[in-house]
Amino acid sequence: MQFEVIVVGGSYAGLSGALQLARARRRILVIDEGTRRNRFADSSHGFLGQDGRAPGAIQSDAREQLLAYDTVTWVDGRVTQAWAVERGFGIRTQSGDQYEGRRLLLATGVRDELPDIPGLAERWGRHVFHCPYCHGYELDKGKIAVLAVSPVSMHHAMMLPDWGETTLLLNGAFEPDAEQAAALSRRGVTVEKTPVRAVVGPAATVELEDDRVLSFDGMFTAPRTHMASPLAEQLGCAFDDGPMGAFVRTGMTRETTAPGVFACGDAARAAGSVALAVGDGTMAGAGVHQSLIFRET
Ligand code: FAD
Ligand code: MG
Repeated sequence: MQFEVIVVGGSYAGLSGALQLARARRRILVIDEGTRRNRFADSSHGFLGQDGRAPGAIQSDAREQLLAYDTVTWVDGRVTQAWAVERGFGIRTQSGDQYEGRRLLLATGVRDELPDIPGLAERWGRHVFHCPYCHGYELDKGKIAVLAVSPVSMHHAMMLPDWGETTLLLNGAFEPDAEQAAALSRRGVTVEKTPVRAVVGPAATVELEDDRVLSFDGMFTAPRTHMASPLAEQLGCAFDDGPMGAFVRTGMTRETTAPGVFACGDAARAAGSVALAVGDGTMAGAGVHQSLIFRET
């Protein structure tokens, strides 16, 4: 085996797992293609000690600190295939390089599938968000739109009045029942039924199908999430269903249902954040390390 552990994904979760393994002097490879989920945002909030910093700066500081350990190898690239070999795993990158390791740690995150509305994707991470804790405060108690995608948007609509005057744009995604309508009214949420034609203007101004224009300082919506890589599926890992998409099932030590394959971060939880990814990564790093000690294979 070339490596004791291969970590796929070198963002918050993967770096955090890798750091524990590096500090145990394990020979590890980290492969990363550089497409962090939050790359559309200029600032990251809610992670202790790093509040308001650029998301890329948090990652690159962590990477630099990791690479100071001499048992760590870093490769830029995309892993396209993973498979089990005798006593470990093999992986292949898009450029055709192959590596083997006794354990695999998947920290590959998720990809967001945004609602298909003209002007929305361009504003993702700047004026359109999904996490109120991450980006609500900076809207400064301004006007907020919640773009519904399904009944799960009730949750967003009930939360956001804590961050500003909220309008729920139903956009044909669901119809609140009497109980939901009463709950929205108690929270002071305005409900708009006319479908949305486009997001326009400098912030998140909305043009409706009946030509009315509503101006907002920010919009929240809930993208569908998809695994950012097919590796967990290729390895036969089981998945659980979250409200926004499937995620890899893991146990206490972050091992998946495929023995020897561990997963952490957004790829392995229903909803994530930088802090949660770092915490999961820490747990997974220790889990992987101890599996190398306490297991025969
Ligand atoms: P990611 O950060 O997504 O990293 C996954 C890594 O794996 C990437 O570097 C990717 O290139 C790599 N990768 C994937 N597949 C492969 C492959 N096959 N081969 C090689 N490499 C691969 N959270 C906060 O706490 N605060 C915020 O302010 C905040 N703002 C956000 C803003 C936006 C617009 C979005 C979309 C999310 C935001 N989040 C925020 C959530 C946060 O981005 C995620 O929870 C966090 O990035 C999860 O970390 P991760 O390491 O699990 O995955
Ligand atoms: Mg990661």
